[in-house]
This record gives sequence, C-alpha cells and structure tokens, in this order.
Amino acid sequence: MGDLSPHFSRSEFRCRCGCGADAVAPALVERLEEIRAILERPVLIRSGCRCPAHNRAVGGKSGSAHVADPARRQWCTAADLAVAGDAARWDVVLAAIRVGICRIGVAEGFVHVDIDRANSEDRLWLYPPRG
Ligand SMILES: [Zn+2]
Repeated sequence: MGDLSPHFSRSEFRCRCGCGADAVAPALVERLEEIRAILERPVLIRSGCRCPAHNRAVGGKSGSAHVADPARRQWCTAADLAVAGDAARWDVVLAAIRVGICRIGVAEGFVHVDIDRANSEDRLWLYPPRG
C-alpha cells in the first residue's frame, strides 16, 4: 500500500537531487494505477518530480512537465517509467495509450508519460540514444 494510492508512494516521485520536491499531480498517479492494473506488474518510476534546478541539471527542457515548483503552484504531471527491453517498452506504451495518455516519449530505458494540460498537443516522440 502506497501513501498516494494503492501502489504508489510519494517517495517514489521525490526529486532525485534531495531537495524534497514531491508535488505530483493526483491525476497522474491515477493514470499510473490504471497502467499498473493493465500490466499486472509493478511500475518503476525512474524520474517523477524535479525542482527547476534538478530539471536543468538532467537536461530537461525548460517548462518540463516533470517540474514541481510549489512557489508557482506547479505540479509534476509527468513520470518516466523504467522499461527493460522492447517487449516491456511496447507494453507500457500500449497501456499508456489505453488509459488516455496522449503525450508519450520513448527512450531506450524508459517511457515518459505526461498529462501536461498547458501543453495540449498530442505527441509521441523519441529521445536520442545516450552515447
Ligand atoms: Zn530537487
């Protein structure tokens, strides 16, 4: 039992820099629960909330849906879900589409899903392979 939902805890979404930023949008957690139910296995959050400084440090674009900035009443509306291998990547993308997520980024080791309402354009994009 998580402290946010049946399977997710706030700590899983906390900014990896140690700042404590963990304001994740409840609607995102709901979609992740639905994805987990479809997959019938745990969903590992590789990156959830980021403070503005950590977002810059990891090369996130400015205005990234990962940014949680309580000072600006900004909630994190994105999560990178860890995937290992082509089959797992396909499963996660398909589940994300089935639960209504319209912004999906695909990388070697993760799938980015976001429900960013300010960025309403539906998109599927690729991240360049890491050197
Ligand atoms: Zn941080």
